[in-house]
Amino acid sequence: MAKFKKTESGRNLSRILSKGYLDLHTRASQGAFVVWIAINVPAELFAGFENVVYGVPESHAAMNAGKGVGAIQCEKAERIGYSMDLCSYARIDIGCVSDNGKDSPSFGLPKPDLLVSDNNNCSLLVKWFEVHHREMGVPHFIIDVPFCYEPQQKKDRDYIIAQFHGLIQTIEKMSGQRFDPDRVSEAVASTNQGISHWKRFLSFAGHRPSGITAFDSFVHMAPFLTMRGTSEFVNHYKLLADETEQRVAAGDFPVKNEKYRLFWDNIAPWHQLRNMSDSLAAHGANIVGATYTSCIGSVEGSFDMYPYDGGDPLEYCARTQNCYICPHGLNLRSKAMRQAVKRLNIDGIVFASNRSCKPYSVTQMDQQRTMTEKLGIPSVMIDVDHADVRKYSRQSTFTRLEALIESIAAKRAA
Ligand code: SF4
Repeated sequence: MAKFKKTESGRNLSRILSKGYLDLHTRASQGAFVVWIAINVPAELFAGFENVVYGVPESHAAMNAGKGVGAIQCEKAERIGYSMDLCSYARIDIGCVSDNGKDSPSFGLPKPDLLVSDNNNCSLLVKWFEVHHREMGVPHFIIDVPFCYEPQQKKDRDYIIAQFHGLIQTIEKMSGQRFDPDRVSEAVASTNQGISHWKRFLSFAGHRPSGITAFDSFVHMAPFLTMRGTSEFVNHYKLLADETEQRVAAGDFPVKNEKYRLFWDNIAPWHQLRNMSDSLAAHGANIVGATYTSCIGSVEGSFDMYPYDGGDPLEYCARTQNCYICPHGLNLRSKAMRQAVKRLNIDGIVFASNRSCKPYSVTQMDQQRTMTEKLGIPSVMIDVDHADVRKYSRQSTFTRLEALIESIAAKRAA
């Protein structure tokens, strides 16, 4: 069995996340200006204001799914007419709002003064925020980010930076607060420091046996979404990396009898983390890495960190808009996966075709073919939904995962 023992970093994660949601509600009730953002929106910008707080509906939806109430929230959205084919993050969020936060572990998010979305992961998200704009009568600022087939061009970066200035002016006007760029520089420097610890933590996947499972990385990615630019963010990832380093040095590995090292492509299956991790470990298999978490802090298919050079923080925020996988074309995705497979000594790839996230899933069949041709390693395609457990079959998933393990074993024996 994979060891899901409560570590100090696990306890710290629970503590800072609970405190984060509590502080968000408290400050909102005391008059802070509340923004709801998409995950790609650079949260460090809000540090430039005295009293602006933000909530992240996608992260809140993932938490609902992880705590076992994803389907309950989805059903609320479906009852008011939203299709089951809509992304489950959107259904969880819309369902939760329709019921004033009932069933949410954090009692939902405080009502926003401003919605800020962007379109570089998907256009569905913009439409989802439009629903809130219509229903709540709250202004919606949309950041348009050019699609990413190659390294970002300066003209694209300038275009994004101009929109950041527009967002800053909008908040100044709406909140009556003055923007201080020096505070954003400090926040970006903290983000940079925290990400360097995150990358150090992920690097223990290169050890044999791996010092981590991808499931650990899924669980610990929440602060990246909800508390970038803060001291808690830096301290948490330092604690996580230091603790992992000590465990590896002591020979304490999550899957001690690791025989098969796998790589995961797509969003985490939030409702199955423990179950999937334990079941794979029983076969001596460990998903040691994932495109979903290795892209954090990198740009355009690189495995390494994209560092902040201490210059214009808006430039850095615009440059790192190209970190996520969804907007990457097939070439960048393949480049990233080839690097990961080589560096982590991967034996097989699990492509998780996600019923919700079409942008992540749409190129997977081509990529599977490319990986087979270029690397010659076995892979499998499974069906999941990241947050709606009703669209997941454990039995058929494990039939395929076991077939993958058998084909790796057969390849070794040949
Ligand atoms: S479809 Fe994918 S990228 Fe779009 S909101 Fe859902 S999970 Fe995010």
